Amino acid sequence: MSAPNNPYDPVGVASLEAEAVDSMVAEALAAIAAAPDLGELKAVRLAHAGDRSPLALANREIAALPPAAKAEAGKRMGAARASVRDALDSRQADLEAERDARVLVEEAVDVTLPTRRSRRGARHPLTTLMERMCDVFIAMGYEVAEGPEAEAEWFNFDALNVPPDHPARTMQDTFFVGNESSGVVLRTQTSPIQLRAMLARDLPIYVVAPGRVFRTDELDATHTPVFHQIEGLAVDEGITMAHLRGTLEHLAEAMFGAGVHIRLRPSYFPFTEPSAELDLECFVCRGASVGNPDAPCRTCGSEGWIEWGGCGMVNPRVLRAAGIDTDRYSGFAFGMGVERTLMFRHGVTDMRDMVEGDVRFTEAFGVEV
Ligand SMILES: [Zn+2]
Repeated sequence: MSAPNNPYDPVGVASLEAEAVDSMVAEALAAIAAAPDLGELKAVRLAHAGDRSPLALANREIAALPPAAKAEAGKRMGAARASVRDALDSRQADLEAERDARVLVEEAVDVTLPTRRSRRGARHPLTTLMERMCDVFIAMGYEVAEGPEAEAEWFNFDALNVPPDHPARTMQDTFFVGNESSGVVLRTQTSPIQLRAMLARDLPIYVVAPGRVFRTDELDATHTPVFHQIEGLAVDEGITMAHLRGTLEHLAEAMFGAGVHIRLRPSYFPFTEPSAELDLECFVCRGASVGNPDAPCRTCGSEGWIEWGGCGMVNPRVLRAAGIDTDRYSGFAFGMGVERTLMFRHGVTDMRDMVEGDVRFTEAFGVEV
């Protein structure tokens, strides 16, 4: 006679049979051994040792067994699950060690490798030269003044004594903002800054005004529609042309070396009276090429002098336009192109080099930042 529930026969639950359990273990061990990395192993752990794994599901069946069969089945399942767990832990340890070893190699820093150098930027030589020129004046007690690039026509022309019918006041020479009757121009000179300084500051005034100016010139070797000027203005009691000359001599020596001479040549500017062209003694030949065909000088064209800028005593009409008492005060003003100064100082022959942005040009001036 056989009882339907033989208390000594765990065969009643198929998944708990030794063969079935062995096959589950074998499957798990094979999957564990085949897991190539920690991510895969995590999935294998879930599939073969998780709550829904075949072994876990089989384990639950133990509860349904008769008490006498529970011990044997429990022992078998315990051993099976332990062997899977051990295999997982061992594979986990191996894969972690493998990963650590790989990270050490892959993330190692080779301190002997040359670095990838990024090129160092620098300011444009025009900027550094302009600042150097300003420094010469700051050392003499001048202040740096600035003004708008889009300037009222009145400041740019009228107040500087340029009459309404002057050819400079047409679209041929000047950029108007909007149309010709807008009253606003891109400043054609830095002189309006001087007038603004006279209106805004208390006397005496000693200012230097560097800045960008605009004229409707085509870009070529000697012209550019946007260029830089630096102007100076001094208004004080008893200012004479001698002060102007001494100041310009000082600037010339600071820019071109001790002992370089300047020359003032009578000229006309509406802003100044009397006015003079400022010539610089050729710093290459120092005049030795004049009348000496055996030693011609390319820098000055064998003339001994080069034109550098303009200057003069501030026209009393301009001073009065700024509300200054001309019986008591007088002043001088001067201005020169920064591009021109750079050309003289560094032998630059083509103005386009300064605006085209080729670093082979600017690198020659160093990397001053
Ligand atoms: Zn010369």
